[in-house]
Amino acid sequence: MSKKPGLTVLAGPTAVGKGTVSTYIRDNYPEVWLSVSATTRAPRPGEQDGVHYFFKSKEEFEQLVADGELLEWAVVHGQNTYGTLKSTVDQAIAEGRSVLLEIDLQGARQVKAAVPDAQFVFLAPPSWDEMVRRLVGRGTETPEEQQRRLETAKLELAAEPEFDYTVINDDVRRAADELVSLMGLTPHPHGA
Ligand code: 5GP
Repeated sequence: MSKKPGLTVLAGPTAVGKGTVSTYIRDNYPEVWLSVSATTRAPRPGEQDGVHYFFKSKEEFEQLVADGELLEWAVVHGQNTYGTLKSTVDQAIAEGRSVLLEIDLQGARQVKAAVPDAQFVFLAPPSWDEMVRRLVGRGTETPEEQQRRLETAKLELAAEPEFDYTVINDDVRRAADELVSLMGLTPHPHGA
């Protein structure tokens, strides 16, 4: 199976480290065009508008939906809304860039319906226990929020067969390098 798309979608359960892998790619692989999503979520400390997300009000986000500006969008964890801006992704693909979307499973399914020849990569945890540890350890969510995200994660793990490839996030750098290889790019050599 070898798809040669300009568009790769990375999805997987919450707390599997999708954000960490995409941050690693943002910092180390400028040849990857990482899509910046729109969201109604409030910025976390250190997050910059236009870099990590485009932070939108509910009304602004609803307008993007109404104007047909989003390739996909979803309410994630029953809370905030996230979506991919169609025009920027289309432009990057047209420019021949290797485009990466890091989105949730609902969004990945919408992209699959809209762009069937995109490449779909599932990021899996080394184990369930490790995933729970990561979610609790990162300490950015309340216990109720953590519980909600774990419920979602259980359902999301079952979606693995819908994807073209699985990358196990046992180590961020290794997982990012494997993802980049799947995108048809050459992983960078790493010093000791
Ligand atoms: P966080 O709030 O931790 O940054 O992200 C929460 C979840 O939203 C993650 O699972 C992430 O993959 C998902 N997400 C981020 N951007 C998008 C997007 O544009 N569309 C969809 N469907 N999900 C997204």
